Amino acid sequence: MNDEIVCTICPTSCFVQAEWNDTELLSISRQQCKLAWDYIESEIFDPRRVVTTTLPVEGGRFPLVSVRSESGVPKDMVMDVMDELANVVAHPPIRVGDVLVPNVLDTGIDIVATRHVD
Ligand code: SF4
Repeated sequence: MNDEIVCTICPTSCFVQAEWNDTELLSISRQQCKLAWDYIESEIFDPRRVVTTTLPVEGGRFPLVSVRSESGVPKDMVMDVMDELANVVAHPPIRVGDVLVPNVLDTGIDIVATRHVD
């Protein structure tokens, strides 16, 4: 199989030509640096996305706290994670990096705060 895949690691956004079989990435071309290999391999065999959203805060100085997944969650679970987070209410004090939802949906990935809320 082969296709063109955009590398989104940096703003250059290279259009990388990739060739792969059922189990491994065979070759890439037109990338501008070697970071593309791992990214393209992941996009083909285990695509992931960092989830960013906000959670409501009860009794805080601000009504919402921004959060993100500590790392990419499997792409096909992004909407499930969003549904799960729709049921979460955070409570202050909240510090950047606080784990507000540990091991979301048994992915092994924590949802952490990205701002302070007193
Ligand atoms: S291949 Fe390198 S230069 Fe091109 S988008 Fe990816 S990280 Fe950036």
